Amino acid sequence: MKNIAVLGCTGSIGRQTLDIVRSNPDKYRITGLSCGSRVTELVGLSREFSCKNVGVYDKTKYTELKALVPNANAFCGDDALTAVIDGADTVVIAVVGMIGLKAVLYALEKGKAIALANKESLVAGGSIVTERLKHGGKLYPVDSEHSAVWQCLQGEKDFSRIILTASGGPFYFAPQSELYSVTPEQAVKHPNWSMGQKISVDSATMMNKGLEIIEARWLFNTTDIDYVIHPESVVHSMVEFRDGSIKAQAGFPDMRLPIQYALSYPEHSYRNFTPLSLPMELRFLPPDENKFPAPKLAKQAIVAGGNSAAVLNAANEAAVALFLQRKIAFTDIVRIVEDALSAEPHCEVKTADEVFATHNRVYDQIYLKYRGR
Ligand code: NDP
Ligand code: MG
Repeated sequence: MKNIAVLGCTGSIGRQTLDIVRSNPDKYRITGLSCGSRVTELVGLSREFSCKNVGVYDKTKYTELKALVPNANAFCGDDALTAVIDGADTVVIAVVGMIGLKAVLYALEKGKAIALANKESLVAGGSIVTERLKHGGKLYPVDSEHSAVWQCLQGEKDFSRIILTASGGPFYFAPQSELYSVTPEQAVKHPNWSMGQKISVDSATMMNKGLEIIEARWLFNTTDIDYVIHPESVVHSMVEFRDGSIKAQAGFPDMRLPIQYALSYPEHSYRNFTPLSLPMELRFLPPDENKFPAPKLAKQAIVAGGNSAAVLNAANEAAVALFLQRKIAFTDIVRIVEDALSAEPHCEVKTADEVFATHNRVYDQIYLKYRGR
């Protein structure tokens, strides 16, 4: 029996993780659950899974939480990302945003296995997480592309290149002139996946692929990373080996597959899955970096190193929040990220505190500049 804590249990990945636990009561037990602020949903889940540790990040909700779960340990603030994992073997980190880095570092310090959905933590703090991993803990990817690469690498010693696939989001085929007037409602409607708002907007701007290129850089210790547009989202990514052979991992687009693999690794354990309806036509199309420059910015941030990826991520988080509040246009998002990367002086970031300080400063600067619009 594996004890599992799910941070971000009320979100898209969190809820799908709990679906897997529901289907495998003999394999998994929930010992920790946390969310940002939605206490009612959290309490419902906590009761269903008889959960021992329950946390809400929003401190103003703590009294309410405590009263509703008298038999559990209730936490708030950073403890909802840290103390709540006590007693877990595996921690599913499915919170959104760079704040997930706190949970990643704490879980590694405690020697836990992490099933990592939260990509912003690796984008902003990849070097620090990599360093921490040398001292204990395990990090298993949940992001479908990275899970695909990981699956392709099983039994392999070396490879020459990673090829990530990208659906292209809802606007790959739209004329560039229409992007300015894209609304939040249009941007969050992804053609193949049902996801939280932030990652849906990231997919629409293609910043998601940029973040994933940086995520892959840290997970697989390489900068040989390309991407290709694959609108069907059936091939989840590929790895090219030194003899020219390419392995691809494919399957019906369903996040429960990579989530379950991260929990059951090294086994592909049983799952009641939707089969692919074959034959089917698959397309692999070229990216258009004039229309969607975000992945190019991410590749430049990898080359620049230092604080660049943390700046890119913070600017993107602020810009996406502003777009969802209708303060800026869709096309402003990546422009704001590009401006932040050129404005911010380059420096090294060596500690987690420096990453958090960079993030907060860049985020606040951008957020305060545009929020009064
Ligand atoms: P959602 O917006 O659906 O869910 C986010 C979850 O995080 C919610 O449970 C939210 O709680 C919680 N949360 C937010 N802030 C905090 C905090 N400070 N402390 C504790 N919990 C917090 O996001 P997704 O599930 O879509 O995405 C989660 C992460 O996984 C993101 O980093 C995303 O990029 C990544 N990912 C998602 C995929 C997907 O298919 N959805 C695919 C691949 C990666 P509350 O409900 O109370 O606000
Ligand atoms: Mg992905």
